[in-house]
Amino acid sequence: MEGMTPSADDSVLSPEQTELMIERIDEVLARIDAAAERRGRRGSDIEMLLATKSRRPAEIAVAIELLRERGRTIAVGENRAQEIAKHSDPLLADNGVPRHFIGRLQTNKARDVVAFAELIHSVDREDIAAALERRAGMAGVVRDVLVQVNTSGEESKGGFAPTVEATAPIIERLRASETLRPVGLMTIGANTSDAAAVRSSLSNLRMLRDRLRERFDEAQVAHLSMGMSGDLEIAVEEGATIVRVGSAIFGARP
Ligand SMILES: *Cc1c(COP(=O)(O)O)cnc(C)c1O
Repeated sequence: MEGMTPSADDSVLSPEQTELMIERIDEVLARIDAAAERRGRRGSDIEMLLATKSRRPAEIAVAIELLRERGRTIAVGENRAQEIAKHSDPLLADNGVPRHFIGRLQTNKARDVVAFAELIHSVDREDIAAALERRAGMAGVVRDVLVQVNTSGEESKGGFAPTVEATAPIIERLRASETLRPVGLMTIGANTSDAAAVRSSLSNLRMLRDRLRERFDEAQVAHLSMGMSGDLEIAVEEGATIVRVGSAIFGARP
């Protein structure tokens, strides 16, 4: 991380830290599996995205190894363009784990994000789509993207309104792109301890996807990226295909 002096300790976790991570991961997987089972789904079919913001390469590398041992489909998701560089650390480079970008996008970071991520979760405005499209074209790559939807109505959150009218035009636009491919929707659940409000925001995303299915090909609206440490079970019950987990695996953020 920027400003952090590397020390010998940075490249390994202590046995105690590893033990703690094993406990946390097994707990997270048990939560996911139980929720999946309640809906007749298989927990191992749900992609586990490690939200890596503010985490060290050593922590990320251990989490990847533990999830792999447990047979999970994994990805890493970075939030901050400034933290992309840490994924080139020898502990993480060439590990074959798909890289996603999950943070708020700025047009002036589009080049870095396109170079880094094969799936970008956070297309929340038309001008972001245009910037990513242009940069992907210049780099000669095609990138998968999710349309971010504001399902909670919270003003602090980006995203399109959770209606067909608000989202179909951006999906149409992405579908017409030669360098971007729409593959689904993403949301951040309502930020509240009221489980009913959280469920309502997450089920909004699923219902929107179901309505969009009438207009688009299955693959273009296939994914629902939703569920974080606090609302994993609800998200899985409501149909998440990708959950984005940080603190439940790595502990509270520094
Ligand atoms: C940080 C972050 C997560 C993970 O949050 P936790 O509560 O730590 O699990 C998921 N999605 C996004 C967009 C994030 O920024």
